[in-house]
Amino acid sequence: MLCLGIESTAHTFGVGIVDDKGNILANEKSTYRPASGWGIIPVDAANHHKKSGSKVIENALEIAGISIKDIDIVSFSQGPGLAPCLKVGMEYARYLANKSRRIIGVNHCIAHIEIGRLLTESKDPVIVYVSGANTQILSFSSGRYRCFGETMDIGLGNALDKFGRNVGLGFPPGPKIEKLAKNGNWVDLPYVVKGMDLSFSGIVTECIRKYNAGYKLEDICFSMQEVFFSMLVEVTERALAHLGKKEVLLTGGVAANTRLQEMLGIMCKERGAEFNTVPIEYAGDNGAMIAWTGILHYKSNKNAPCNENDIDIQPRQRTDMVEIGWIK
Ligand code: AMP
Ligand code: MG
Repeated sequence: MLCLGIESTAHTFGVGIVDDKGNILANEKSTYRPASGWGIIPVDAANHHKKSGSKVIENALEIAGISIKDIDIVSFSQGPGLAPCLKVGMEYARYLANKSRRIIGVNHCIAHIEIGRLLTESKDPVIVYVSGANTQILSFSSGRYRCFGETMDIGLGNALDKFGRNVGLGFPPGPKIEKLAKNGNWVDLPYVVKGMDLSFSGIVTECIRKYNAGYKLEDICFSMQEVFFSMLVEVTERALAHLGKKEVLLTGGVAANTRLQEMLGIMCKERGAEFNTVPIEYAGDNGAMIAWTGILHYKSNKNAPCNENDIDIQPRQRTDMVEIGWIK
């Protein structure tokens, strides 16, 4: 059985093709790049997806060596995300399903978790999900991925990107900040953890203020990473301790950061917990994670009726709103 999954929540139009054993046959994408100095303009990103969608689908089918007739299920990212972008993904999914294939709306955050579980040894982890728009500490309990801590304002990736945009680093600034940080020294910054929740935006404001006051860019990049990642490690360790779990899974676009991997790795080692990171190719938004989560939904509820409400976009759908039928 084959599922074609479409990702289109924000900057990336991705198409993945995955079989029911979890073999990834294709994972193609095209990424919208905002004009320098701007963040994502939703309508422009949606236009990018509209224009590039057919070609990405074609490429994915070609790489998998199949035609659309071989596809059994079509899944798409239904949320959370930017409504104009989500709509393009859903329209492509409806077109490909062509009223003859099962069509499944997938939660984007859950897809980031499931691709991590598929491609690592992770079984029952505390999940550190850090992407552009989302930052959550999650774990499975009683039928759902429950959220034990999260950002109170912007996501970690967006915090890094926002600083990067303001100091002219282009898009996406995350990897550039990581590189600059390697040659930086400590400067004092605020540290904001409230209970299990995190706040990044005020720290970004202070970083921009320090840059404008003449502090060295490398020093700000280093210190900003140290503070953001320490905040994450603190709440992750507390989640591990309270839940009594013995594994951490790092996933989402910011999982590509080697300093974050190192810091979480040290904490896990000290606690005797296992640490896994999603492979870098599948850290950022991608279609394979949507296809695999489509397969999981299908397998756990084969006879679900094709409900029109299930195949609509859900721009504000939270991770903990979705029932997880495939974990017992
Ligand atoms: P996603 O929304 O999951 O596709 O993740 C995209 C986010 O990951 C963007 O905010 C990027 O800046 C961020 N990102 C990608 N690579 C790195 C990196 N090496 N270090 C920090 N952030 C990164
Ligand atoms: Mg994402």
